Amino acid sequence: MFTPLTYAQLLQFAHRSNAITQSCSCKPKAFVGWEGLPAWIKEGRLREVGSLIAAEEEDLTLDEYHPAGTSYWSSDAPVAPQFFPYNRCKVCECVDCNRVYLRYAEAGAYHIEQRIRGLDPALMVDVAFEGVGRA
Ligand SMILES: [Zn+2]
Repeated sequence: MFTPLTYAQLLQFAHRSNAITQSCSCKPKAFVGWEGLPAWIKEGRLREVGSLIAAEEEDLTLDEYHPAGTSYWSSDAPVAPQFFPYNRCKVCECVDCNRVYLRYAEAGAYHIEQRIRGLDPALMVDVAFEGVGRA
């Protein structure tokens, strides 16, 4: 089990990933926004290196953070780790190039879809989720 990464730790992963210039088969689509995990990324090619999954159930909000009018699918949607879906994510890196990705399982009506997004430090925002019903 992983404990959730701090914002500073996640930012370190993001900067390290962003600095990688080596070409790699994980790169062509870049995953700037959320996408279904493609079949050509086999499970073994992503190594789990951390988690953003909230330790407390009341922090597992379904609220998203879009102050600038972005949406879930926007390629420029902010990465706010305490908000959905980032609070469901595992942090993974490509075993070949060490680029870092976020992934989680989106539960749909009929099946669960694995989703993936690259981790861009420029999109990260350190904003706290103020839980509903908290004093
Ligand atoms: Zn790679």
